[in-house]
Amino acid sequence: MLYTSTRDNSIRVSAAQAIAQGISEEGGLFVPVELPQFSIEKISSMVSMSYIDRAKTVLKEFLTDFSDEELNYCVEGAYAAEKFSSSKVAPTVNVDGNKNILELWHGPTCAFKDMALQLLPYLMTVSAKKTADGKTIVILVATSGDTGKAALEGFKNVDNTKILVFYPVDGVSPMQKLQMTTQEGDNVAVCAINGNFDDAQSAVKSIFTNSEIKAQLAEKNMMFSSANSINWGRLVPQIVYYFSTYCDMLEMGKIKAGDEINVVVPTGNFGNILAGYYAKKMGLPIKKLVCASNSNNVLTDFLKTGTYNKNRDFYTTTSPSMDILISSNLERLLYHMSGENAELVADLMTQLADNGEYTVSDELIADIKEVFSAGFTSEESVDSTIKNHFNSYNYLCDTHTAVAVKVYDDYVAETGDDIPTVIDSTASPYKFSASVLNAVNGDTAQLDEFEMVDELNKVTGADVPKPLASLKDKTVRFTDVCNKEDMSQMVFKLLDL
Ligand SMILES: *Cc1c(COP(=O)(O)O)cnc(C)c1O
Repeated sequence: MLYTSTRDNSIRVSAAQAIAQGISEEGGLFVPVELPQFSIEKISSMVSMSYIDRAKTVLKEFLTDFSDEELNYCVEGAYAAEKFSSSKVAPTVNVDGNKNILELWHGPTCAFKDMALQLLPYLMTVSAKKTADGKTIVILVATSGDTGKAALEGFKNVDNTKILVFYPVDGVSPMQKLQMTTQEGDNVAVCAINGNFDDAQSAVKSIFTNSEIKAQLAEKNMMFSSANSINWGRLVPQIVYYFSTYCDMLEMGKIKAGDEINVVVPTGNFGNILAGYYAKKMGLPIKKLVCASNSNNVLTDFLKTGTYNKNRDFYTTTSPSMDILISSNLERLLYHMSGENAELVADLMTQLADNGEYTVSDELIADIKEVFSAGFTSEESVDSTIKNHFNSYNYLCDTHTAVAVKVYDDYVAETGDDIPTVIDSTASPYKFSASVLNAVNGDTAQLDEFEMVDELNKVTGADVPKPLASLKDKTVRFTDVCNKEDMSQMVFKLLDL
């Protein structure tokens, strides 16, 4: 299995190269040249497997340059039983009739990014051994919350890696801050910066390309890499859970082998839903992929009209991980749906960079609409959805999941298409206690973060995930705060250069 670039069809790299390198040199994203095909028989044979074995079965087809031993080491390390609060890793829960929820937040940081960021460090270190002479990989992350913690937890104590995370000192929730400042591990460091997320992000980017720092790293046999979602190594783990949920639906008797399902995904950077698209192209019987957005509805507009336009107001919502105006992974979809037209993709991406917008042909958007449907929700309906969903089904969902639930309900009302459906649930409600409690109870009266968790537990009876509850007793390890101009100094200090 070889990979090419969305902006240059002549490129051919191995999986290990794609993962170690992260992004193609001319700025394109790595994509598989062809997709492995899974017959219904093969999918059915995965029903009796554990999540780990399902993952091996799918990933083996994509990581053909990994030996069986290497693949086993990666997958067994990533999804080890002690790391996930469900023995199914990503369980599918039936809430009512044909409505099912795929819970992707049972990992160590209680958000769906664990599904990929638990595996990525393993894939990256094995890839580096193959392609980068076993250099120590230094991961630099600028985060507005979820990604930083999930990356820290994934890279914690992984041999031959170090990870440094920068977050805006006043830009993350109290729970997210505590998650990061109490991080354990010998190869991790966390630093707050005086500035906002964009400041952290641009400083990290300039450190990445600073030749003096790179030279010093090379002297110590280290290299930078990135853990963000354009890396193929973050996308490929996500394909697995679509196969896994289909198997679980078969096992629960909700469908028969070969029956189609719909999938609804709360979307930001378009990584999660794109993994669903790959699963469909590989033979998984998915009828529609429903793309759910919050008030930052740039994707809804694109999927309805064919015009992508990021020149619009940016809203800060209660589903912050979906507050995004440039959905990077859409580039991969455009590549595949346009018949691997790298020139077209390169041109559209130039238009996006230069003018902030592009429009695709009527034919292309019609093809995309065959596969994708889209909708968005207002902030008020997120609150009422959390409340109604809890009252009707005794099922508590977080703000991001609520966006998907509401868009799904609208989709069924509009189309009547109510075949068995899986709605991705991307975070534990306790990660966003203030918003969720507010929606359920209408009142959060001066409670601190842990009091809100307790109150939410009292009101709803939903289990509090251990990794969040145990934060209360953890020691704060990282208290550094620096100015954005001093971030490169901080990198020197933290890496002992
Ligand atoms: C990152 C994230 C999303 C968006 O996922 P994409 O793959 O970027 O579309 C949705 N919900 C939560 C909780 C997230 O952390």
